[in-house]
Amino acid sequence: VLALEGVVKAFGDQVVLDALDLEVAEHEVVVLIGASGSGKSTLLRCVNLLEPVDDGRIRLDGEDVTDPRTDADAVRARIGVVFQQFNLFPHRSVLDNVTLAARHVHRTPKAEAETRGRRLLERVGLADRAGEYPDRLSGGQQQRVAIARAIMTEPRLLLLDEITSALDPQLVGEVLDLVAELKDAGSTILMTTHEMHFAEHAADRVVFLQGGRIVEQGPPEQVLRDPQHESTRAFLSRLR
Ligand code: ATP
Ligand code: MG
Repeated sequence: VLALEGVVKAFGDQVVLDALDLEVAEHEVVVLIGASGSGKSTLLRCVNLLEPVDDGRIRLDGEDVTDPRTDADAVRARIGVVFQQFNLFPHRSVLDNVTLAARHVHRTPKAEAETRGRRLLERVGLADRAGEYPDRLSGGQQQRVAIARAIMTEPRLLLLDEITSALDPQLVGEVLDLVAELKDAGSTILMTTHEMHFAEHAADRVVFLQGGRIVEQGPPEQVLRDPQHESTRAFLSRLR
């Protein structure tokens, strides 16, 4: 689904992604881990074309989306994104939040979008909150709305950046359970998290980044339980 080929991204003279190669296969869940500043969010932002790359290529279903002639909105329409901070529209109902992109970007008729939106709210356990404003929901519920919104348009790829790190600990589980359900339903996911327990259970592959390079990657039981590199070991031991 996704392929990064020699992606370079610098801010001024600080190289944040250093000739990075990474592929995400269909139905695969890839979890990026690494210290603060290692480039995880920047990588996701480059994939979503929020940041231009300085060199290399990013392919989505084979298409070079870093080609300057690419229509960025058309690319973003194929990608679902959820960030750490709840970025729901505060003056729109939950149902409107879920259906807006489908209606405006994908031109889905209102009735059809709302039928589908209500079904998705049911799936994330919030069917009875469709008419509510986001600030009436808990952080965990808001993130579940954000996830419903991200999958509303049946994206080819989901990008999830620290979607539980702004949540109270008791709300983390409900959001990660939902991600695990999306995985079981066949979604293709590239995500970052500090929840190693989740990574261990839900990731097909864990990728450890340091200084914009992949130091180590593999199945979670290998990278998290038996890391081969000293820097991976040091990172993991700081978390425990
Ligand atoms: P965290 O775990 O804290 O979220 P991260 O791995 O997501 O960290 P990034 O946000 O990708 O790290 O940042 C990587 C580096 O790039 C950092 O040193 C950061 O200061 C720098 N950086 C990110 N965005 C910008 C920007 N818009 N302008 C300048 N520097 C930036
Ligand atoms: Mg980040």
